[in-house]
Amino acid sequence: MTEGIESLAGVRSPADRSADVCIIGSGCGGATAARVLAEAGKDVVVLEEGSDRTGMELTQRDGEMYDQLYMDRGGRSTEDLSISVLTARVLGGGGVINASDVVPIPAGVLAHWRRAFDLADLTDATLAPFAAAALADLHANEVTEAQMNRANRLLQEGTERLGWAGARMHHNRVGCQGMGTCLIGCPVNAKKNPRFVAIPAAIEAGARFLTRARAVRVEGARADTKTVTVKTLDARGYHETGELRVRAPIVIVACNAVASAQLLLQSGIGNEHVGQHLILQPQLPLVASFDEPVNAFRGIPQAYAVTEFEEEDHPEHGLWGFRIEAIMGTPGIVSTLLPYIGSESATMMGRYDRIAASLLLAPDEPSGSVRLGPSTRPIIAYEHREEHKRRLRAAARAAARIYLAAGAREVLVPSVPPVTVRSTRDLHHLDALEMRPATTPMVSAHQQGTVRMSSSASRGAVDPDGLVWGTRGVYVMDASIFPSSASSHTMTPILTMARYLASKLAA
Ligand SMILES: Cc1cc2nc3c(=O)[nH]c(=O)nc-3n(C[C@H](O)[C@H](O)[C@H](O)COP(=O)(O)OP(=O)(O)OC[C@H]3O[C@@H](n4cnc5c(N)ncnc54)[C@H](O)[C@@H]3O)c2cc1C
Ligand code: SF4
Repeated sequence: MTEGIESLAGVRSPADRSADVCIIGSGCGGATAARVLAEAGKDVVVLEEGSDRTGMELTQRDGEMYDQLYMDRGGRSTEDLSISVLTARVLGGGGVINASDVVPIPAGVLAHWRRAFDLADLTDATLAPFAAAALADLHANEVTEAQMNRANRLLQEGTERLGWAGARMHHNRVGCQGMGTCLIGCPVNAKKNPRFVAIPAAIEAGARFLTRARAVRVEGARADTKTVTVKTLDARGYHETGELRVRAPIVIVACNAVASAQLLLQSGIGNEHVGQHLILQPQLPLVASFDEPVNAFRGIPQAYAVTEFEEEDHPEHGLWGFRIEAIMGTPGIVSTLLPYIGSESATMMGRYDRIAASLLLAPDEPSGSVRLGPSTRPIIAYEHREEHKRRLRAAARAAARIYLAAGAREVLVPSVPPVTVRSTRDLHHLDALEMRPATTPMVSAHQQGTVRMSSSASRGAVDPDGLVWGTRGVYVMDASIFPSSASSHTMTPILTMARYLASKLAA
């Protein structure tokens, strides 16, 4: 046992616990809240259903890491199988498996929240110290020229040839060795994520972290003391083994936007907005083939973003438009995303060293929901709106033009059937992209909105303090509370808002 982190893996008769504050989820939101409240002198217990994995335990092996670091072993998706919903399940949460991009909440988004959701307190000036603290915790720095791999450079070259705007991204890596497996964990612990910043600080201040501890129900939402029922899991997290109760006057739910809504629904807590207004930011992958080796699997996968088409202060939506970001996956994930089997798949994977890939990211309107299913898995419904598909098609056209300008011999959208572009004369092929369910491998990494914040219970599920309307002492402090897309990347916004809300609670 690392001091302050206790694994309950396989424990059949664990002892009950009590604390001032019980936090459910140890990711960006939960770890931050734990640190702030522990440093304010509160006795804090954090429940985490994943295990603790760092350094060489992050083995770079596809199968094992998706199995151990992701919810539903990486297989979570919308009910129509159209969008893969990627979320973490490990001590430290999404920061352990994310692409390490650091993007704060744009001022235009805060203005939109004040306008559309009456969140008058959320001004730039109020949040500035919390945003600054988040950036300091992340050790945020710009990817250097020398850290740009060939795939990111090709995206940059094409963008610059077309005269469009783009930029090297900011990230939270320090001492990165360019091993390229960020999405299945960093074996050299180069990411300054909650596991290496907020969690040690919280432990230093006295917080206790329990792993392989899945919260299944919160009772007494209006009582002085709440009781959280917790199931312990086996070492690999497949089966429940035992049960305990954690009692605390304050419970903070921070399981991420799908699981937080699920837990509140399971507990019968909250109003009709709980589980509604899901934002998925579905991203469309696009692959470019080059004649020369690109070796996109080495180096930082996501280091350059095309920002030409992004709007940060859209009057109706806040964040809108689209952006294009380089990405690369490990062989397992790339081969499953490509629409080929058998020898065609082998041929394509034989060119693994010659492909560059991008994710096309267009913020979406809230148009999904989370509800309870017959098993322990939540049902995620999502209506993929035509307007969003239209922006993704525009993004595909722009990305294809960029890669062709950079010398690609072919650009492919890996749908069924695949759509290919070999010259600018083929760009109209992309208009045929229908994105019907289960035909296009879309991914969601930025779920938000299912327990949204509003100044009135008639429009949202939590109040401006993060308190679930109608409860005494049940709070939510993760991406669930964002009423619209907080940013093109959610880690920094969550760190900012969790620190702000936990500081208010501590005060
Ligand atoms: C593949 C991927 C790449 C990403 N890339 C970026 C990026 O580059 N930049 C960026 O800003 N954002 C990125 N994100 C998004 C960002 O990482 C997440 O938005 C963020 O981690 C969410 O924070 P959270 O606190 O809401 O939840 P999480 O960080 O997901 O933490 C929630 C934790 O709660 C635990 N949990 C869930 N249910 C229970 C329960 N019932 N009991 C106990 N524990 C529970 C989970 O195991 C998990 O560890 C990425 C996400 C993914 C999946
Ligand atoms: S690219 Fe850097 S941060 Fe990512 S896994 Fe490799 S060493 Fe770690």
